[in-house]
Amino acid sequence: AAAGGPQYLNGLNPEQREAVETLDGPVLVLAGAGTGKTRVLTTRIAHILSQGRARPHEILSVTFTNKAAREMKLRLGQMLGQAVEGMPWLGTFHSIGGRILRIHAELVQLKSNFTVLDVDDQVRLLKQLLQAENIDDKRWPARMLAGLIDGWKNRGLSPSQVPAGEAASFGNGKGGKIYATYQERLKILNAADFGDLLLENIRLFRENPDVLRQYQSRFKFILVDEYQDTNVAQYLWLRLLSQAPSRPGQPLSAVIPGELTSPRLRGEVGAQGAPGEGDSPRAELEDRAPHPDPLPVKDGEREQTALKNICCVGDDDQSIYGWRGAEVDNILRFEHDFPGAKVIRLERNYRSTGHILAAASHLIAHNEGRLGKTLRTEDVDGEKVTVTGSWDSEEEARAIGEELEELQRAGENLNDVAILVRASFQMREFEDRFVTLGLPYRVIGGPRFYERAEIRDALAYLRTINSPADDLAFERIVNVPKRGLGDATVQLLHDHARKRRIPLFEAARAVVETDELKPKARGSLRDLVMQFDRWRAQREVTSHTELAEIVLDESGYTEMWQKDRSADAAGRLENLKELVRSMEEFENLQGFLEHISLVMDRDGEAGDEAVSLMTLHSAKGLEFDNVFLPGWEEGLFPSQRTLDEQGRAGLEEERRLAHVGLTRARRRAKIYFATNRRIHGTWSTTIPSRFLDELPAHNVEITESKGGSGWGGSGGYGASRFDNLESFGSSYSTPGWQRAQANRNRGGGGRGGSGFEERQSSFSSESFNRSKRGPVVI
Ligand code: ATP
Ligand code: MG
Repeated sequence: AAAGGPQYLNGLNPEQREAVETLDGPVLVLAGAGTGKTRVLTTRIAHILSQGRARPHEILSVTFTNKAAREMKLRLGQMLGQAVEGMPWLGTFHSIGGRILRIHAELVQLKSNFTVLDVDDQVRLLKQLLQAENIDDKRWPARMLAGLIDGWKNRGLSPSQVPAGEAASFGNGKGGKIYATYQERLKILNAADFGDLLLENIRLFRENPDVLRQYQSRFKFILVDEYQDTNVAQYLWLRLLSQAPSRPGQPLSAVIPGELTSPRLRGEVGAQGAPGEGDSPRAELEDRAPHPDPLPVKDGEREQTALKNICCVGDDDQSIYGWRGAEVDNILRFEHDFPGAKVIRLERNYRSTGHILAAASHLIAHNEGRLGKTLRTEDVDGEKVTVTGSWDSEEEARAIGEELEELQRAGENLNDVAILVRASFQMREFEDRFVTLGLPYRVIGGPRFYERAEIRDALAYLRTINSPADDLAFERIVNVPKRGLGDATVQLLHDHARKRRIPLFEAARAVVETDELKPKARGSLRDLVMQFDRWRAQREVTSHTELAEIVLDESGYTEMWQKDRSADAAGRLENLKELVRSMEEFENLQGFLEHISLVMDRDGEAGDEAVSLMTLHSAKGLEFDNVFLPGWEEGLFPSQRTLDEQGRAGLEEERRLAHVGLTRARRRAKIYFATNRRIHGTWSTTIPSRFLDELPAHNVEITESKGGSGWGGSGGYGASRFDNLESFGSSYSTPGWQRAQANRNRGGGGRGGSGFEERQSSFSSESFNRSKRGPVVI
């Protein structure tokens, strides 16, 4: 190493090195995409360990996805060789929250084997509660309440803390009450929903200062990636853990920091200032409704809390989870929250070539609510970003399929290729296309596979075995396959369970001893109860994968699909096989179910070469040589819903998402739009995304679709198509792309060179300076 020191520090630039080596006190790395923030975090862990500043289990490192956590573990192993014993606490907020919660489950009225419900279970449970309250599910859908509850949990609000007005906004004023009942029911079911993994962990800490103290002294170093996307609950949790341990006997209020509310609420933002100066970028952020103070604390207590070594890294331009309660403010007021914090900025992008970085930087400069930053690359300009129009989404998929085959022929590794979509429904078309072409692909992020009905059924069997109190699971499969246990039986079980406050499964056990059921149903239910007892006993002696096979077989579930004549039955059987196969990766059933409930990432088999297909949201933090960005159309991207619901703030978040997409690319970024698309079953004509018009022409190249008939092709769609385009051209503000394409198809006729060329000239002067090597000031 030039400056001496350990190997892992080699190659870091001075700012990165400073971020790695500043181990004492709070550190914030605020820097753009691809500047090495994540690399800094990983190296920092290596540094802490090799300097002997902490043992692995004394380090808490929070990543945004499970995949990112795995990646970090891998890198760390490479940096340190065999040297580490044990691993840091490395995972997402929810997985770590869940892990802590399981250890102390009884303190929050759960058992350590509690089930983590997914949205579907949540909705089913809420439906029951709405029914019990005689609330019309049509007028007040359970799904809507699930969303509200989730939002409250993201803001760290337990039922008693929800502002009265909000609590009353649902179900004729009963929303808050049902939230409370829902929490009670979860305890009876020995279950937690996703939001609880954090919220209940916060409650655990607040109600048990000794437990909190234990973790405060354990974690000597805290590291957080993607800090711009933390929500209030995550922030609260971090704040609790980042205090120096309190003295035993010290009142809890002193342990909880006084700065939990947004400084906005105290009117301090202007005065005390978050990083960055000038009012304009912040004005936008201050516009948004403040979140209520979840943990009011008396003044004067904040000084009593010392902060320890916390290092957060993030980029305000990549804040893309506002819709899920993330508060970009968290990063903007870091210095305020963590007094004495050192703020480090990184300006060199190591990921993308010049044209890509310039295009992404130019696009994001259209946002007003941002700090602004300098980014440069020392890489070559490379290839321009391409923009390709297609007739419809099918042609788009075909075009991308051909490009992929071309890349493959050119010897590119498919693992370095990603297709990033705005909405997950866009995936199916690509999946279909890739299956046809025999192109290996994997879907990442989002529990698509585990959401399939047959998978959910199989999991319900396994969940019932794992936790007999898991009523939702049991109810799902009690009559699947059909065994004569219809609604009447289930109703009877519910009545029993409610009266005696026992789980459904135990109710079933009791009911078969009575003569309340007809003999046939009674016999059938008894068989089922006995089967479960047998499977639970077998669990002790067989591996969990074998057990799964036995269960699917003996329950008649597999047979049900074998007898099914529908077209997709074979696929379902394959999926079930795949499910059992996927269990092999886990030590036991509990571990596997834990994984399922937390799973955000679905990876293909390791080692396989495959194209990655995922949403833009789940691409955060990742990088690929070749990135395909389909569906850049108004209404899809930016998405209509975001525009409708959130106005300009929504548009800016969409633009950040576009920026995230482009900055995933190392060498090639390829954007697509289609003129016709079927959204939720209805065909509609679309116009290209405004984001296309916001790209610097100098760094962009328009190319012909390779998807067959295409734009530059035979013109088989006839003149009406161009008339359409013309009319769009005059009635929308972003017609450049269509006109350019239409003109090309007409051999340059028509409005002769208006459209895109005009636009191009308006761009060229500003964009010209940006594109060459050297600083791009945005
Ligand atoms: P994002 O904001 O997208 O999460 P990031 O800031 O976390 O990006 P990293 O993923 O850590 O950036 O780094 C981007 C790429 O640059 C990685 O391939 C990383 O290995 C590489 N890189 C980072 N720092 C250096 C360096 N000093 N020398 C060489 N390569 C580097
Ligand atoms: Mg990163």
